[in-house]
Amino acid sequence: MNETNCIFCKIVAGEIPSQLVAESEHTIAFNDLFPRKPVHVLVVPKNHYDNVAELAFENPAGLVDLVQLGAKVAEQLTDGAYRLTFNTGLAAGQTIFHAHGHVTSTKPKGEDE
Ligand code: AMP
Ligand code: ZN
Repeated sequence: MNETNCIFCKIVAGEIPSQLVAESEHTIAFNDLFPRKPVHVLVVPKNHYDNVAELAFENPAGLVDLVQLGAKVAEQLTDGAYRLTFNTGLAAGQTIFHAHGHVTSTKPKGEDE
């Protein structure tokens, strides 16, 4: 599934550059272009779903894969404390309508208190 004019579909297809952090069968992880925390990585299903609930209903295994990749990224980049958040709907802050989780942390791995 690939939607025209979807920026994340274009990143998955390699038509728009991104800083790839990790990849799995169904998911890619890349750095957020406008990071709001010291660690800010997006975990994005390779196929297009409008939001995380649509992903959950239509491809539960894809959601599990996304959460697992988020955990691996967090293990690489943080000391183990992180958030995995999903904005759903314009009023809740969703600006890109291709499902994605934000892996964020204020504490990058190995950084002093
Ligand atoms: P949301 O507001 O939850 O829909 O999240 C969309 C996120 O995508 C925001 O944090 C943006 O900073 C980020 N973003 C927008 N364009 C790009 C891009 N080309 N590459 C990486 N991240 C992007
Ligand atoms: Zn898309």
